[in-house]
Amino acid sequence: MNERDSEGVAAQLIQEGYALAPHEAAADVILLNTCSVRDTAERKAMNKMQALASEVRRHRPNVVLGFLGCMAQAHGDTLLSELPEINMILGTRKSHRVAEYLGKILADRSIRICDVNEEPQSHTVTKGHLLSRPSGGNKVSAFVNIMEGCNQRCTFCIVPKTRGVEHSRPLNDILDECRELVDKGVREIILLGQVVTSYGKGLIEKTGGVSPFVRLLEAVHSIDGLERIRFTAPHPRGYGDDLISAYANLPKLCESAHIPLQSGSNNILKAMKRGHSMAQYTRLTEKLRGVKPEIGLYTDIIVGFPGETESDFEDTLAAVKDIRFDSAFLFKYSPRTGTPAAAMQNQIPQHVKEERHARLMNAVDQIASEKYKRLTGQTVEVLVEGPSRKNPSRLEGRTRCHKWVVFEGDESMIGSLMYTTVTGIGKYTLYGESPEPCKKAEQTK
Ligand code: SAH
Repeated sequence: MNERDSEGVAAQLIQEGYALAPHEAAADVILLNTCSVRDTAERKAMNKMQALASEVRRHRPNVVLGFLGCMAQAHGDTLLSELPEINMILGTRKSHRVAEYLGKILADRSIRICDVNEEPQSHTVTKGHLLSRPSGGNKVSAFVNIMEGCNQRCTFCIVPKTRGVEHSRPLNDILDECRELVDKGVREIILLGQVVTSYGKGLIEKTGGVSPFVRLLEAVHSIDGLERIRFTAPHPRGYGDDLISAYANLPKLCESAHIPLQSGSNNILKAMKRGHSMAQYTRLTEKLRGVKPEIGLYTDIIVGFPGETESDFEDTLAAVKDIRFDSAFLFKYSPRTGTPAAAMQNQIPQHVKEERHARLMNAVDQIASEKYKRLTGQTVEVLVEGPSRKNPSRLEGRTRCHKWVVFEGDESMIGSLMYTTVTGIGKYTLYGESPEPCKKAEQTK
């Protein structure tokens, strides 16, 4: 989400006549987009801003500094008083106003702005895109915002506070944006929101058992020239039978899903107020594998939530081994001020979090590596995105199950679907050979 917001701000400034600086040392304006989900993210942003402030104070007094995103939203003008070099603090609903405020600051350098107010229609603003990839070539895969905010009340999470309540964009605005991107060469769209499966609640009616989110998937699916659709982040409760069937009925919907589990213990899931049980989650993965046996399954897990016993943790380990995720993001619980879990009495000591994190990581990595190895010798369908970020003489793209593949090829392949045979395996990369175009009839145009 932050990557997308930053892209939107950059596109807005370019539209207004600014240009991207080749690197930080050459920039006249430096804006930090920030995340509050964990303390480490906040500390990193704060350290970075302090280093920038000190450099501005000593060597670059004309540089404009700004703080955007969740930290700006959560801390507001206390950041202005802590760092006198900062010119601008803009909250999560203000990113479309960056150019306007920046213009004011550049016209009068004595102005300092802090705006973290509500702005009811901000979610309806279409954010611009940057259509070139940093490693070369035009963008093949693009994020499209469909909703913002979150109405869940997970006890660990700061997001509802920093991003506000759910707001969905009008369906036609989303479709117009997708069509325009496809006209400009985009072949894959990743629908984006804090809880995408809540899309359209209260805006579009559920008819014939089909939720507004699945209606949106169907509408995006009908765009000619689009090859692939993905989405993030869903809530497990949002996987009704209509969404499961969508995987069977919509060939452009890639067989990969990132579904946050958070814990394998029902006690902890309850204390987290996640709204799903372990049995419901397992059933969901079985249904998905029932329609798409090879689906790539990814998840988020928090270890060391308050009150997590060794036995709760072992339930999480067992869940990981049982479900066999393709990969997982593992987080050590980080207390966020103002959330219910931060005030719980039974906080877990840091060394226990570290130890559980390492054990879980071992289990996840072992399963992931077995799954990667099984792909050796298989032919996979890759949407070629451009030169590899690590080795620009080769190309990279992703399989339908969301695994990166690097292979030798020529630039004409960028933006097309190719078959390639997997001949090598890295930790999170497949290496392919002998790329062949997917036959026209099999392309989903
Ligand atoms: N909207 C999504 C993702 C939220 S943030 C959802 O609700 O599922 C991404 C991930 O960060 C979460 O899935 C969770 O695993 C992790 N996370 C959120 N708050 C956290 C906290 N206080 N400490 C550690 N990890 C956290």
